[in-house]
Amino acid sequence: MYEHNQNPYMLLTPGPLTTSTTVKETMLADWCTWDDDYKSIVQSIRHSLLHLADVSSELYTTVLMQGSGTFSVESVIGSTIPHDGKLLVLMNGAYGERIGKIADRLGIDWTSLPSGETEPPDLNELTKSLEEDASITHVAVVHCETTTGMLNPIKEVSNVVKAYNKTFIVDAMSSFGGIEFSMQDLDIDFLISSANKCIQGVPGFGFVISKRSSMEKCKGLARSLSLDLYDQWVTMEEQEGKWRFTSPTHTVRAFRQALDELQQEGGIQARQDRYTSNQRRLVEGMRQLGFTPLLPDELQSPIITPFYHPDNPGFDFETFYKELKLRGFVIYPGKVTNLETFRIGNIGVIDIEDIERLLVAVEQSMYWKQTIA
Ligand SMILES: *Cc1c(COP(=O)(O)O)cnc(C)c1O
Repeated sequence: MYEHNQNPYMLLTPGPLTTSTTVKETMLADWCTWDDDYKSIVQSIRHSLLHLADVSSELYTTVLMQGSGTFSVESVIGSTIPHDGKLLVLMNGAYGERIGKIADRLGIDWTSLPSGETEPPDLNELTKSLEEDASITHVAVVHCETTTGMLNPIKEVSNVVKAYNKTFIVDAMSSFGGIEFSMQDLDIDFLISSANKCIQGVPGFGFVISKRSSMEKCKGLARSLSLDLYDQWVTMEEQEGKWRFTSPTHTVRAFRQALDELQQEGGIQARQDRYTSNQRRLVEGMRQLGFTPLLPDELQSPIITPFYHPDNPGFDFETFYKELKLRGFVIYPGKVTNLETFRIGNIGVIDIEDIERLLVAVEQSMYWKQTIA
């Protein structure tokens, strides 16, 4: 189904990830950033994103931001919280922690609700925090915590956040486009994602989908010029697809193609089904080879799966990584503190045959099992 013939290896790393040849081919043209042809591509992307999020353009809007996903997170944290506001971050992994670090660096008043890296957020604790600290104005949560692949219960979190009338920020970086959910039902104020995750584009920019009413409150709040979300939004709105500063034109054009390919695949549900089949087959095959996944199946998303290092003194991740790379696959080291894990991503242009090939490669790479004949 897919062609990877230009690639030295397949990326099983969730971002950047394996993209289609047709997405890469669209980058063979140069575009003028202020010309109508280019701006109409930007506008069509903004339109498609609202369509993907299943929200109306009267109530919601979208803005694209240069940089990797973190730049968009920083742009939201730095541009949406008033100077007398306070942020509560639900934390169960490196990406939740990063939101806290951003707030810290920007001098924003913030607090966190850590639940440990392998546990979902405690909703009673969340209620308690909002009950006890009325100065909290904004709550941020990571949807799929890419550290562990845990899918956080954003519906339940939203119910509490909205019962207390707080602004709700969701880092949906590694879930938007690959996991079906309704931004409207979840009453999300600011949703953040990027070009090089489930939409399967190439890296270079992120995007924010927000309620218009929430965005309109952000004038003059930004702590940064280049990451001013509101200013970027006003320019894109008024100048119909113009970015304030040089935009990543090739990446933008590739993203248009990636959105078309998502549509051709059958939309988010079809993509989620493919990722889910990939993930199930991966876990089944890895278990047969003796590996143990970090999370119980019910907390695990179809996006990325951490496995414990095998319980064998001869195992060394670097060597395993190199063996797999020789066989055409690149995987991720673990990111969980205090536990020895590695991660395998299931997103990108990967199908079940690729997972079958990977499992063969894993078996061949289990050098610590091989005895001298
Ligand atoms: C990928 C990712 C980010 C952004 O990471 P970048 O390296 O800046 O692209 C943020 N949050 C989550 C949950 C992610 O998976």
